[in-house]
Amino acid sequence: MKYCQACGQEVEHKIPANDDRERFVCTSCEVIHYQNPRIIVCTVPCHEDKVLLCKRSIEPRYGLWTLPGGFMENDETIHEGAKRETLEEACARVELHGLYTYYSLPHINQAHLFFRCTLTHLDFAAGAESLEVDLFAEKDIPWDEIAFMPVANTLKHYFNDLAEGHFPVRSADILLTVDGQRLIKPHD
Ligand SMILES: [Zn+2]
Repeated sequence: MKYCQACGQEVEHKIPANDDRERFVCTSCEVIHYQNPRIIVCTVPCHEDKVLLCKRSIEPRYGLWTLPGGFMENDETIHEGAKRETLEEACARVELHGLYTYYSLPHINQAHLFFRCTLTHLDFAAGAESLEVDLFAEKDIPWDEIAFMPVANTLKHYFNDLAEGHFPVRSADILLTVDGQRLIKPHD
């Protein structure tokens, strides 16, 4: 951030009084512009033993496969956001079953939530951010072409849990190591 969103003057990066970390503070009106993590809401749309994946038509990770998901919007609930993203990316209508996996990604200031759901109709199609949308059984998942680590981890859990017949909530932290590798640290 360079300029104050309240008055348009320059901001500086400093620790405000009674705080313990640096914030963007306006040099003129002194408004503190807090920046906090963003919430990514995603679904695992299921039909029989298959899961719906979207091939991305946008960067980052153009051409790789992902589960439907995206940034939660203002003025919507978590569940509404998850259903909206699924409709936008895959034109898919779903019934949500509840939270399945969640991840903290502090190196990019994001939290990712995945909800299990069932397709209520099979008239899905590629939305604006997808090149292609299809259902995949476990043996057909393109494991080397999955766009994001939380998606790959959620899919691995899903097919293991499908075989077991129950779906406990699972979570992990995805951390950046000193040599720039991403490390997944499960909570259980
Ligand atoms: Zn200002």
